[in-house]
Amino acid sequence: MDLSQNVKAVQDRIAAAARAAGRDPASVTLCAATKVQTDEMVRAAVAAGIRVCGENRVQELTAHLAADAYAGAEVHFIGHLQTNKVRQVVGRVALIHSVDSERLLRAIDAQADKLGIIQDILLEVNIAREESKGGILPEQLPALAEAALSCPHVRLRGLMAIPPVAALPGDNRKYFAGMRHFLVDIIGKMSDNHSVVDCLSMGMSGDYEDAIAEGATLVRVGTALFGPRPPMSPAH
Ligand SMILES: *Cc1c(COP(=O)(O)O)cnc(C)c1O
Repeated sequence: MDLSQNVKAVQDRIAAAARAAGRDPASVTLCAATKVQTDEMVRAAVAAGIRVCGENRVQELTAHLAADAYAGAEVHFIGHLQTNKVRQVVGRVALIHSVDSERLLRAIDAQADKLGIIQDILLEVNIAREESKGGILPEQLPALAEAALSCPHVRLRGLMAIPPVAALPGDNRKYFAGMRHFLVDIIGKMSDNHSVVDCLSMGMSGDYEDAIAEGATLVRVGTALFGPRPPMSPAH
């Protein structure tokens, strides 16, 4: 595996997918999904041009931060977040992708208040209504978005989704298109300045080009950069 070659190849494919969709390649950010990677691998990814790292687990986030492994890159939290772990995440990451309950939202807001900061967040939508997946159901989105907009220490930046693994290329386009419509709906319902609600975090190694065709601004890519991962224990 050649990490720098992989980073370059994924960056090139992102740019090509953006151009094919009539979009500016700079409007799509590559977020490297660094779960199970070592400090050395994270450093190598940053050296190879990765500017955003997405971490799934609080324990790995804490360890990589302690080792200063992300130096030179921004860090996002992309995994399931338990309310009792917000202290270890709020203020330490630029963006939390995975807010999926009002309880978690309020806990993040309270911790950000304590730190005197505003935490950027996305709301995670269970777009394919899978029982095994985190995220809120689409019909719960308006209420949670409204709650997020009313939290003074949280800045709602957009939405995130993890659709099923696509069996065939193009299979997830309908889900990605659905997410784009939800984002447009939220923006439409906001009365005041909504200029920062502009993030759509969707697309992984198997389908990021389809996600870009449907408006993704952040694609979270692991395997295509780092190679296959060993099987994981359940995240929660
Ligand atoms: C692991 C992971 C990814 C990346 O998945 P790949 O298929 O390896 O690209 C993206 N998003 C989340 C939330 C993940 O946990």
